[in-house]
Amino acid sequence: MKMLKKFKQLTLKSLKTAGVSTLVRNSRWRQQRLLILAYHGISINDEHLWNSSQYMPADVLRTRFELLKKAKCAVLPLDEAVKRMYANDLPDRAVAITFDDGTSDFYRKAFPLIQEFGFPVTLYLTTFYTHYRRPVFDLMLAYLLWKGRHEVLDLHGLAGKESRIDLRDEASQRKALGEITTLARARKLSAEEKDALLISLAAQLKVDYAALNEQRITHNVTPDEVKALSAAGIDVQLHTHRHRTPLDRQLFLREIEDNRTSIQEMTGKTAIHFCYPSGVYDLAFLPWLKESGVVSATTCETGFASPGSNPLLLPRVLDNMQLSSIEFESWLTGVSAALPRRPRKPKEIAA
Ligand SMILES: [Zn+2]
Repeated sequence: MKMLKKFKQLTLKSLKTAGVSTLVRNSRWRQQRLLILAYHGISINDEHLWNSSQYMPADVLRTRFELLKKAKCAVLPLDEAVKRMYANDLPDRAVAITFDDGTSDFYRKAFPLIQEFGFPVTLYLTTFYTHYRRPVFDLMLAYLLWKGRHEVLDLHGLAGKESRIDLRDEASQRKALGEITTLARARKLSAEEKDALLISLAAQLKVDYAALNEQRITHNVTPDEVKALSAAGIDVQLHTHRHRTPLDRQLFLREIEDNRTSIQEMTGKTAIHFCYPSGVYDLAFLPWLKESGVVSATTCETGFASPGSNPLLLPRVLDNMQLSSIEFESWLTGVSAALPRRPRKPKEIAA
């Protein structure tokens, strides 16, 4: 365990013993703030072993939901939570739950738990792969390179020059990912060509691609699933059509419009809340979001939202396997806000 993390855990434990968390939990400070939790994937198989910052097994999500109950958090629908926050009318320990992207595991793994606990949930759905029923290229590519970590990848056929990468460690998997995505972009590969590329890479890495597709690993939810989710109360909101935010007004607005039209067709509802794909935002986006009728936008900046927050730059807390139960609880109560989040530079520690 890293030093800072260890220090934080110990501090949180002693604060808990001293009853400080109970004090903070009931404080006015926390009461004026909204904790927006961000989730991505819930493993169908072993995805959390590959990507622990974006995937967690269903039993971890269950323990999080149990902690939300135990801490008596008021889990609100996002729209209501944002409105009440700006009206200074939040209940104690207000939380909103959001999931990004809408991979098929949301329907299969997260949705049953959401129903069991009865929490309102917002799904920020990217819609291109909802209609194109093949794996999400970047995600599947990274997963395949991890699956094939006992192999040496030969990129000769693709790169047109000698390029062999031993995939045994994370750094070389990242290097391969970078090289392949750069090539795919430079050659402007179509969705079909990208899929063909995944098929040939899987064969080379001795990964059973058909089995992964059978399980719909890294696929998106289908239009029928979106319909069913919406009918069951899941709030489907904007995340762009192709998971990208071009720095060009026209193209940016089109991403929102395509996304919104698709969601409207599936749910019959107009989406007005937005989440920046990959957390990437630029201040130039703000007037464009306003122009397209977006009333709130969430980032991946860590923290509580408060009445002082810009509604188009609302911070969230990314919950993942790297967050311990006690750290998660400290976000629910508000204790975490008093603790350091980023490792200090070595010289500052020495000083
Ligand atoms: Zn996303």
